[in-house]
Amino acid sequence: MDAELQRPFVFRGSSARVLFGSGSLARLPEEAQRLDLKRLMLIASERQADAARSLAPEISGHIAAGFTGAAMHTPVAVTEQAHALLHTHRIDGLLAIGGGSAIGLSKALAWRSGLPQIVCPTTYAGSEMTPILGETQNGQKQTRSDPRIQPGLVIYDSRLTLAMPPQISAASGMNAIAHAAEALYAADANPVISLMAEQAIAALATALPAVLRDGQDMAARARALYGAWLAGTCLGSVGMALHHKLCHVLGGSFGLPHAETHAAVLPHALAYNAAHAPAAMQRISRALGADNAAAAVFDLARNLGLGMALRDFGLPQQAIAEAAALAMAQAYPNPRPLEAGPLQQLLRQAWWGARPDTA
Ligand code: NAD
Repeated sequence: MDAELQRPFVFRGSSARVLFGSGSLARLPEEAQRLDLKRLMLIASERQADAARSLAPEISGHIAAGFTGAAMHTPVAVTEQAHALLHTHRIDGLLAIGGGSAIGLSKALAWRSGLPQIVCPTTYAGSEMTPILGETQNGQKQTRSDPRIQPGLVIYDSRLTLAMPPQISAASGMNAIAHAAEALYAADANPVISLMAEQAIAALATALPAVLRDGQDMAARARALYGAWLAGTCLGSVGMALHHKLCHVLGGSFGLPHAETHAAVLPHALAYNAAHAPAAMQRISRALGADNAAAAVFDLARNLGLGMALRDFGLPQQAIAEAAALAMAQAYPNPRPLEAGPLQQLLRQAWWGARPDTA
C-alpha cells in the first residue's frame, strides 16, 4: 500500500444515489415522487419490453411513453427516434429497465435533453455507474464522458437479474471483470478504486459459477450484482486502456457482440500488459486465487461456457491488421506501448481462442 500512496492521485466519487437490495424496485414510486417526476419515458430493449412493463406496475401512472427499441452499441439513428418522442409526450424523466443497451439509450437521451434518469440494471455490464456514453454511427463507436451522462438514481434489485439466461449472465459478468481489471492499471488508477476492483473481481469470480449452476440462487445473484456495481464504479472513476479500446473497435467497426467480445479479449489484453503492470496482475491473481492473471481469466470464462474465439463471433481473419491499426489510432493510455506487430499477435491469439501463453 505504501508504494501506492507515494504516487499523488485524484479520487472522483460518483454522484449517483444507489439503492441496493432484493425488492428495491418497489421504492420506485416514492423515488419518482421525491424527484418530482410525473411523465417518465420507459426505455427497454425489444426482448425485455413486456418484462420491463410488468416490472413497473406501481409506477404505470407516471409513465407517459415507452420506447422499446434500445439496441447494442447505442446507434445514433435509434436515439434520434426516441428523442423525437420526448417533446411530443412532454417527458420529464427517463426510466431505463434493462442491460447496457437500455441504459446506453437513456444516457444518450439525457445527454441530448438534460432529463434526469432512473436506471434499473438487469445485467452486470456496469454502464449505470459511469458518465461514459459510447455511440455508434457510420461504423464507428465514439465515446464521450460528461457528468450529465451519469444516471442520478440507480436501483440494483437482484430480482431483475433472475431471468438473465446463463450465457448472458456469464458474458456480462466477464464484461464487469474487464472494467475492474483495467481500472487496476489505468493511467489514473488510485488505491481506493483498486480496492473496489479487486473486490469486484473476487465477488464476480465466485458468484458467476454459482449463478450458472442455479440462476435462482439469490445469494449468488446479489453477490454478482454487487460485483457489477463495484466494477461499474471502477470504470466510471478511472480511465480505460487497451482492452476497452480493442473491444470498442471490434464492436463498433466489426459488429461483434459486446459482452462476449470482452470475455474473449480480456485474457490476451492482460497477457499483453502483464510485464508492464505487475501490481495489477498480482491483485487480479489474488482475487481469482490463481498464479497467473491472464490464464486464470481465460479459464474462468471458458469454464463458464463462453466462446473464446473471435472467429466464431464473425471477425474475418483478414480484419486483424485493420482492427489493430484502429486500436492504435486515438489509443487509450496503456501501461505497455502499443506496437502493431504484438497487437496483431494479441488479436490472432484471441481470434483462434487460444489460452494465453504464460511461459
Ligand atoms: P444488452 O443490454 O444488449 O443485453 C443483452 C441481451 O440480454 C438483450 O437482448 C437484453 O434484452 C437481454 N437481457 C438483459 N437483461 C436480461 C434479463 N435480466 N433477463 C433476460 N434477458 C435480459 O447487453 P449488456 O451486455 O448489458 O450491455 C451492452 C451494451 O452496454 C453495449 O452497447 C455497451 O457498449 C454498453 N456498455 C456501456 C458502458 C458504459 O459505461 N458506457 C459500460 C458497459 C456496457
